[in-house]
Amino acid sequence: MKRRWPAKYRWTYAGLLAACLILAVLASWTPFAAPIDYYAYDLIYRTFPPQNWEPSSAILAIDEATFTASGGVRNLRGIVADSIDALAPAQTKAIGIDVLLPDDADPALDKRLAASIEHAGNVALSAQLTNNIWEEPLPLFAAKAKAVGHVHPEENHIDGVGRRIPLEFSAARQRHWALMLEAYRLAQGSAAPIIESMEDVRIGSDTVIPAPRDGQGRLMWIRHRPGGIPTVSLAELRKDPAKLEVFRNKTVFIGVTALAGRRDQVLSPVTGDYVSGVVIHAQAFETVVQKRFLTGASNLTVIAVCLLGVALMGVAFLMLRGSLALTAAGVLILGSHFVPVLFFRQDIVFPFSAVFGSALLAAATSACYQYFVIRKRMQTTEDEKERYQKAIQWVAHEMRSPLTAIQGSSEMMGRYALSEERRKQMASMINAESKRMARMIQTFLDVERLSEGQMEMKRERFSAPDVVCLCVERVMPLAERKNITLHPGEFPACELLGDRELMEYAVYNLLTNAVKYSPAETHVFVTAEVRGANLRIAVADQGIGMDKNEVKNIFRKFYRTEKAQKSGEAGTGIGLSIVEQIVTHHGGKIEVVSTPGKGSVFTIVTPVAAVGSAKPPIAAQRV
Ligand code: ADP
Repeated sequence: MKRRWPAKYRWTYAGLLAACLILAVLASWTPFAAPIDYYAYDLIYRTFPPQNWEPSSAILAIDEATFTASGGVRNLRGIVADSIDALAPAQTKAIGIDVLLPDDADPALDKRLAASIEHAGNVALSAQLTNNIWEEPLPLFAAKAKAVGHVHPEENHIDGVGRRIPLEFSAARQRHWALMLEAYRLAQGSAAPIIESMEDVRIGSDTVIPAPRDGQGRLMWIRHRPGGIPTVSLAELRKDPAKLEVFRNKTVFIGVTALAGRRDQVLSPVTGDYVSGVVIHAQAFETVVQKRFLTGASNLTVIAVCLLGVALMGVAFLMLRGSLALTAAGVLILGSHFVPVLFFRQDIVFPFSAVFGSALLAAATSACYQYFVIRKRMQTTEDEKERYQKAIQWVAHEMRSPLTAIQGSSEMMGRYALSEERRKQMASMINAESKRMARMIQTFLDVERLSEGQMEMKRERFSAPDVVCLCVERVMPLAERKNITLHPGEFPACELLGDRELMEYAVYNLLTNAVKYSPAETHVFVTAEVRGANLRIAVADQGIGMDKNEVKNIFRKFYRTEKAQKSGEAGTGIGLSIVEQIVTHHGGKIEVVSTPGKGSVFTIVTPVAAVGSAKPPIAAQRV
């Protein structure tokens, strides 16, 4: 099967795609990607809401009406005490108070609140870090409460939406678990301790929250109850005591919902509206009760999925062309949208930006690269075609003179009664010219067959100096005609293994080129030496030379340098391509060193079969 892209291109392509993958994954870890990931998360989150469940918590809200009826924000402590007292008949499982109670106030009021807390039993109070100082509940209250939890929302500077909650908050040498976690612990029975590991937080024997220690306080994704948290304000409860049933056997969160007194407000990912902190705590509590935990996809998973996407994209552009490739890319990019959905269905939060970004980047890169490769190959084909046409033209041109000679001579022989001597002369001329044509055709066919790997190569031992000497002798008349002096060196006795005729062709070609592409009155040096396991046959001239770029191309079929074309020397540009193949078939290589205007050195480096020529040649065997 023919390869679609040359190996060189495929490696570059693979490298580019790997770069796309790395870039996309790295970018997905930057803050720029966070809004995209959040947006995608919210969309999926709203599209696939969970089934509503029976709530285990309720909110006793301190709203505007409560403040109005009970003396305003200044009487917050009294209102909290009233709220706790009001809940007494409902037999709540635990009470979490999302109101900070740090300073001394009216001693009588403080005493009353302490008594209410003590009477209620399972109460968790809240603490919050402000200016690096913990605002803890007064010792008077803390002593009566069963726990103190922090009330910090996730520090989300990007869009302020409360998607996660930090389970722990450590600062100023003090650490608190989240208020909702403490409330949950109390609701389980106050003996249930919180046990932590690097990966999770355990409460009791059957609640394991997957929240790895991450330097951000073990963030836990909140699953908001679609129906919200049942909420009754203290004012409403006073008006309608029957509403107390809302709190029966529940864990109750008491917090301020009135705009005037509420400290924290966070955007809900479900409704997009501002909600007060107490709602977020209650929703997080519901998540823990329902044990519906979401976990972030691990880096390894993200990389593996993105790698798969990029690889598919790469293969699509490798196998397909044009609109088909683009359609495949479109399908893959569209498919990348569904990856986070599939993961979400498995309770895993997958960063959309990573998978989408890598697919998009890979598609753009693949499309550009495919365009580049196709263009480059078209260009190469065009060049090759042009050179081929030129070569054909040259051959046609070259054939014309022997053909004319053959035609003329044969006509004369047919028409006139020629002397025996003249007839012989013409016959030998016809013979020589037709042989020349046959050689020309043979050379063309050889190139094709050699490159297709169809040409048979003999494997026999032959003497290397014999070959070189013969070629030097053959090229001598050409050199003399141009007044070029040939300097054959000392050729060491050694044998090569392969096809003698082909090797002759190779050496002869280098010698004729040296003569062809050198001006008159110059010198050509031919040397041979055994170095290590190799024989080095070097042909050095003082001719037109070539620059680096030209040297790179001379082994391509039909390539001729501009200087060579201008030199007026006839050539097809195929000789060297055959030479290279012959030498490669012999397990060797050709080295070229050339300087424009100064000359070139062509060296055939080929393994020697034996040094010295004592052994008789092995009988020819074809491979
Ligand atoms: P041809 O000589 O028939 O053109 P070759 O394949 O033998 O074809 O050589 C290819 C090209 O390499 C030549 O056309 C010439 O441009 C360049 N070349 C080969 N040998 C030499 C040399 N000794 N000095 C300068 N250029 C050379």
